[in-house]
Amino acid sequence: MQSWGLTVDKFLDHAKKWHGQREIVTRSIEGPITRTNYFNVHERAKKLSSGLIDMGIKPGDRVGTLAWNTSRHLEVWFGTMGIGAVCHTLNPRFTADQLAYIINHASDRIIFTEHAFLQQLESIRERIPSVEKIIVLSDSLPDSESSTSVINYESLIDGGDTDIEWGNFPEDTAAGLCYTSGTVGNPKGVLYSHRSNFLHTLASSSTDIFSLSARDVVLISVPMFHANAWGLTFLCPAMGAKMVLPGQKLDGPSLHELIETEGVTFSAAVPTVWQMLLTHLRQSKSKLTSLTRILVGGAAVPASLARAYQDEFGVKVIHAWGMTEVSPIGTVNTPTAETITLSEEEQFRASLNQGRATMLTDIKIVDQDGEDLPHDGLASGRLMVRGPYVVDRYFGDAPDTERLDDEGYFDTGDIATIDQNGFMKIVDRSKDIIKSGGEWISSAEIETLILSHPHVDLAAVIGIPHEKWTERPLLVLKLKTDAERTKESFLSFLDGKVAKWWVPDDVVFVNDMPVGPTGKIDKKLVRQSLAGYKWS
Ligand code: ADP
Repeated sequence: MQSWGLTVDKFLDHAKKWHGQREIVTRSIEGPITRTNYFNVHERAKKLSSGLIDMGIKPGDRVGTLAWNTSRHLEVWFGTMGIGAVCHTLNPRFTADQLAYIINHASDRIIFTEHAFLQQLESIRERIPSVEKIIVLSDSLPDSESSTSVINYESLIDGGDTDIEWGNFPEDTAAGLCYTSGTVGNPKGVLYSHRSNFLHTLASSSTDIFSLSARDVVLISVPMFHANAWGLTFLCPAMGAKMVLPGQKLDGPSLHELIETEGVTFSAAVPTVWQMLLTHLRQSKSKLTSLTRILVGGAAVPASLARAYQDEFGVKVIHAWGMTEVSPIGTVNTPTAETITLSEEEQFRASLNQGRATMLTDIKIVDQDGEDLPHDGLASGRLMVRGPYVVDRYFGDAPDTERLDDEGYFDTGDIATIDQNGFMKIVDRSKDIIKSGGEWISSAEIETLILSHPHVDLAAVIGIPHEKWTERPLLVLKLKTDAERTKESFLSFLDGKVAKWWVPDDVVFVNDMPVGPTGKIDKKLVRQSLAGYKWS
């Protein structure tokens, strides 16, 4: 057989040649909706490659992006990866200190960014000496803001060569770099290769994963800085699907407008984004006329959310589990021949767990000693994962750093069960699980349940030290406006839904819940803010 390197530039080559006129729509940072297609994005990405080469960027060099989902950002991905340089996606929600740490750690040479982030980068400029140039992803840049080291994107690609060669390097060449948000310790970098991204795309293209086709219109609501946009920025050109990029506006009304005007059929995002859209749909009494299914991941999907989308709007909810270290899709919940025969209610309940391992990920659960646990849906233990797009060590780790067990599995830091049909259920993150009287209480399960309470906006359950029980759960709630702060009504809501001893011992109401860079509640900060809490 021919040796044909599995490099991601081939996805865009394919899209240009066979789906060249398929649209890519962006809500631009400047405001208006802009339209381009795979042919044009390919041409412009090549010109960008040419500009990067002229600036001395070589294979392996890190090129940062601090940007929203737009067609320009897409061009930067392919233009960088195509020449063997590493596209390092930076999360704008990182603090200035975190950004400085990450940019330094990665030694980024160039940063592509939005106009709005210039000031933030300027404020840490002294601390990021590796950065030679900042390139602003906008139509134009006032003379007062440009300099030899700050230039506008359009002037960089203007006149670039479209004949630059892509992909002429080994398929295990690094393609992308993404840091996890570091809810414990400093952020850690995960370095993706062309091969790993290619295989993740192939695995994700199966019917039981995203079930995408050339006929789909995909709204990429998951940011391109969050774990490869969950693979969609590779999968869409590979499939020839129309892409809709929401820019910086991820609020309910903006997403709804894009879904309806562009005829979006599929989208993926964390539960908080879907919750915001749901609130808008209900308040405005709107419908979803084209959307058929959404992928929800990054945190557990609350039953009330899945019910609402399915029953009120006819949108199928697909629950997936993943992490930056897994490129990121690890398991997806779609029915099997066994589960499709269950009653509708049973199927619904089964659809709330995190699903089955995808074609190229292998999972197992183990006890404290690393011994395999049975797949009986009851035994819970550390979730381990291995496969060709699972991390083996972090970027910058010493070569002899060992992060895998004897069989090559990576410890996800999650606690899970696996049932007879292979469906995995996340019980909790190991650092969030509450140890009460020698048993475990799943903070995640209580949070998902209480979110179905009509007055709850956001919820976190944390373990507070307890003299007798080691730890007991405390329920922290941010309520919807005007809801009454009666502790009892929230605790009694859990009666019968969880074991009696799982019901939290107290409730604390907060006006703000700290949310981390990827839109999930930052429990480290919740714990910090309640460090002085004492049981009465
Ligand atoms: P961060 O650590 O920055 O949040 P990730 O996005 O990589 O970065 O988060 C991965 C973690 O998110 C997983 O280890 C798991 O704890 C959690 N997670 C992801 N998907 C789900 C899901 N469907 N249900 C519950 N937890 C999830």
